[in-house]
Amino acid sequence: MSYSISSNGIKAPEIVSAFPEISVVVPIYNEVESLSHLIDAIATTLERDRLDYEIICVDDGSTDGSTEMLRQLARNRSDLRAVLLRRNYGQTPAMAAGFQYARGRVIVTLDGDLQNDPTDIPKLIAKLDEGYDLVSGWRKQRQDDALTRLLPSKIANWLIGRVTGVKLHDYGCSLKAYRTELVADMNLYGELHRFLPALAYIEGARITELPVCHHARRYGKSKYGLGRTFRVVMDLLTIYFIKKFLTKPMHGFGLLGLISIVLGTVLGGYLTFLKLGLGQSIGNRPLLILAVLLFLTGVQLFSFGLLAELVMRTYHESQKRPIYRVREVVE
Ligand code: UDP
Ligand code: MG
Repeated sequence: MSYSISSNGIKAPEIVSAFPEISVVVPIYNEVESLSHLIDAIATTLERDRLDYEIICVDDGSTDGSTEMLRQLARNRSDLRAVLLRRNYGQTPAMAAGFQYARGRVIVTLDGDLQNDPTDIPKLIAKLDEGYDLVSGWRKQRQDDALTRLLPSKIANWLIGRVTGVKLHDYGCSLKAYRTELVADMNLYGELHRFLPALAYIEGARITELPVCHHARRYGKSKYGLGRTFRVVMDLLTIYFIKKFLTKPMHGFGLLGLISIVLGTVLGGYLTFLKLGLGQSIGNRPLLILAVLLFLTGVQLFSFGLLAELVMRTYHESQKRPIYRVREVVE
């Protein structure tokens, strides 16, 4: 709270909102050379547009001095808060930690390596205020290696679009703006931060995209290789199942098992009738094997279905587990 001196000399509290409008969340893992440039650039842009903001840098267990530098910067700047995690958890947990500490009405995320351009932030917010819940950046002229980055991401974007029904050109772009309530209690893990539009869509969010600038990395190097593609595919599968089975968890297996049991029982009954009713020998009939097989497979599938239900339920409930631990918050 700040105070001003009124005409009668008595200090009167100014009416200042306790929380900033916009929280800019930046995950930081070994970005020591970019840090102060980045924070200056964000602050300059947002101040020029007279936007009320805070910057939340989440240090994801850096080992290159970023942690110390952030601590210093946060102590000296009122617009910066540093959330220091206990170790390196990954970009998604780092972002989730940022969401937890964000107090703004709007959250903007971007990378800490200066590849995203802070001057795009006001454009994203303006777009959001047209009535969207999420505005995703689209790096139309992406400055990354064509073969190892652009091609896999083109395929991934197409696949994600097909599976989730939300067709964006650039899921991987970190520069995004969200209404805070959209992400505040979203359960994230793995590489899920890039799927936020898809997850939000399942929750009924209005989503759009906006072309943004992209620069080549100036300092440090990328924290990812091709290995990420695999993890992204696994996450995509999970999303697919979440979307498919959110309302009907794994009923499919149980049903299949039940059909198999019924078929096996009918066949078995028929054979029993032949043996006991008509006195025929059934020991040499292939149908007998089929009946037994169907029945046993049915029992197995049905038990599997039950188990799957339990696993799905446990899966949803276990999501309360924190995916990161905070060591210290410097403000
Ligand atoms: N990052 C992080 N934890 C990690 C890996 C990356 O917080 O374990 C941060 C990193 O500091 C950067 C952002 O996530 O701010 C994106 O990482 P990077 O630039 O390496 O990814 P790329 O742009 O190559 O996809
Ligand atoms: Mg980068």
